[in-house]
Amino acid sequence: MISKNTNGQSDDVLDYHEDMTLNMSIMTATGQETVISNADLEEFKTSLRGKLIYPGDTDYDETRKIHNAMIDKHPAMIVRCAGVADIITSVNFAKKNNLLFTVRGAGHNVAGSSVCDGGLVIDLSHMKGIRVNLSERTAQVEPGVTWGELSHELQIFGLAATGGFISTTGVSGLTLGGGLGWLLRKHGLALDNLLSVDVVTAEGKLVNADPTQHADLFWGVRGGGGNFGIVTSFKFRVHPVGSVWGGLVLHAASKGSEALRYWRDYSIKSPEEFTGAAVIFHPPAEFPVPEALHREGIVAMGGVYAGDINTGEQVLYPLRQFGPPAADIFQTMPYSAAQTMADFLWPRGLYNYWKSNFLKELGDDTIATLLEFFATVPSPLTVMVIEHVGDGAMNRIGDNDTAFASRSGRFNFLVTSLWTNPQDSDANIRWTREFWDAMKPFMADAVYLNYMGEEGEDRVKQAYGKKYEKLAILKSKYDPANLFRMNQNITPANV
Ligand SMILES: Cc1cc2nc3c(=O)[nH]c(=O)nc-3n(C[C@H](O)[C@H](O)[C@H](O)COP(=O)(O)OP(=O)(O)OC[C@H]3O[C@@H](n4cnc5c(N)ncnc54)[C@H](O)[C@@H]3O)c2cc1C
Repeated sequence: MISKNTNGQSDDVLDYHEDMTLNMSIMTATGQETVISNADLEEFKTSLRGKLIYPGDTDYDETRKIHNAMIDKHPAMIVRCAGVADIITSVNFAKKNNLLFTVRGAGHNVAGSSVCDGGLVIDLSHMKGIRVNLSERTAQVEPGVTWGELSHELQIFGLAATGGFISTTGVSGLTLGGGLGWLLRKHGLALDNLLSVDVVTAEGKLVNADPTQHADLFWGVRGGGGNFGIVTSFKFRVHPVGSVWGGLVLHAASKGSEALRYWRDYSIKSPEEFTGAAVIFHPPAEFPVPEALHREGIVAMGGVYAGDINTGEQVLYPLRQFGPPAADIFQTMPYSAAQTMADFLWPRGLYNYWKSNFLKELGDDTIATLLEFFATVPSPLTVMVIEHVGDGAMNRIGDNDTAFASRSGRFNFLVTSLWTNPQDSDANIRWTREFWDAMKPFMADAVYLNYMGEEGEDRVKQAYGKKYEKLAILKSKYDPANLFRMNQNITPANV
C-alpha cells in the first residue's frame, strides 16, 4: 500500500498519506480487503463536520490508542465525529462499502472492541455535550462524556448520576452494558436511570427510544451493549447527592481474612445508602501506610454513603473501628471527588488482562483463595476487587424490565491484572488463568458484560443469560445484517 509519490517528496508520512488517499485499501466486515477510490473518500471527508484521521496523521497514534495497552490496533481511518450527522454519514459509508467498523465511546473497554485493524473507527469521544435540567432533575449526555465529566457538571447543583466506581470510564459503554458504581445500592445501575436514548440504527436513521416509542429498542439498549445501533444521546434521571461520607480503611493483607469476613457480614446488613467494595492491592509509595505494607499488600474496604453525612458517619463507625485498621481515610467529600478516589489503581496505558464473575456467595473458602493467590501475584500493580452489588435498588427492578441479565448476584468478583512491560505478559496471563480456575467453584452462573475480555461465544451467551433469545430476535429486527458486530455480539435470530 505504501508507495513513493510522483512529485519527488521524500517524506514518508506524506508518501503514506498521499497513497492512503489515492486508492485506500480497507477491511470489509467479512475480513477481505476492498479498495475505496479517492473520489469516494473525498466525498466522505467533505461530508463530515468532524475530522477524518489517517495513519501518518499526527493525531493518529494518540487517537487509535485505548485504555488497555494490550490492544494495539491500526485502523485504516478514524472518523472523529462532531455530531449526529457525522455518525449517520459514517454508518452509511460503512454500509455502502461493507466495511469493518467499530464504535468508540471513551475507549475503556478492556476487550478493545472500540478499535480494529484495517477498518473504520467511528470515534464519539469528542462529543462532550451535557445539559442539566434542574426542574426535571435530568441530564442529557452526549456519547463521548466520561463519568468524571458528568459528575463535575452535576456536582455544582448538588446532583449526581449513578455512574462507575472511577471517573475516567465512558458513560456510553458503561451504561449500555449495565453500570456498577458508588450509588448502585441506593439508585440502581446506570441503565436503571436511563429515561430515553437517541439511536442511529443500522438503517442510518435517528430514532428516539423510551418507554413509549421504540420501547423494544429501549429495552434492548439497557443491557444489550452496542448491538442495536449508536447511541448519540442519553437522558438520565439524576439525584440529589451533594457531599458524601466516603473513603477507605486499610488492613495488612496478612489480616485480610478477618477483615474480609467482617466486611462481608457488615455489608450485607448495611443500609442501601452505602455502596462498598473490598480491594486487594499493593499500595503505591505515596499511600499513608507503614513501609512493610507496601511490600505485603493491603485489603482496603471502602465505599460511599450517599445520604445524611452524620448518619453515614455513625453507620460506618463499626467498619472503621474493626481491627483496628492500619489507616482510616474516610471523610466528607463531594460526590465528584469520591468518584475519583480509586482512579489511581487503574491508570491509562498499562497492560490489562481481566477476569470477572458474580459469586455464589462470599464464603470463607472464597476469601482464603483470593488471599492465597494475592500472595503469589507476579505484578505489584494487579488489583483484586469484590463489589457488593446486591441488597439494594438493583434488586427492586423487575428482571424483565431491561435486557440486563444479572440482577440476583450479591457480590461480584473481578481481578484486573496490570503490568507495564510487554515481556511480562505471559507470566501475568498465566497467573490470572490459574487464579481464575481456582475461583471457579465459587462462581455463580452469571458474568457482568462490561468486565469481559474476548472470551468466546459461550461466555457472551452466559453474560446475556436468559435474555439472549429475546435479544437475538430484537437484533434481527434492528440490525439483521449484524452491522454492529464489534462488541459482545448477539447473533441475529434469522442468521
Ligand atoms: C479502568 C476501568 C474501570 C472500570 N470501572 C467500571 C465501573 O466502575 N463500573 C462499571 O460498570 N464498569 C466499569 N468498567 C467497565 C466499563 O463499563 C466498560 O469498559 C465500558 O465498555 C466502558 O465504556 P466506554 O464508553 O469507555 O467504552 P468503549 O471502549 O469506548 O466502548 C466499548 C463498546 O461499547 C460500545 N459503545 C460505546 N459507545 C457506544 C455508543 N454510544 N453507542 C453504541 N455502542 C457504543 C461499542 O460496542 C464499543 O466497542 C471499567 C473499565 C475500566 C477499563
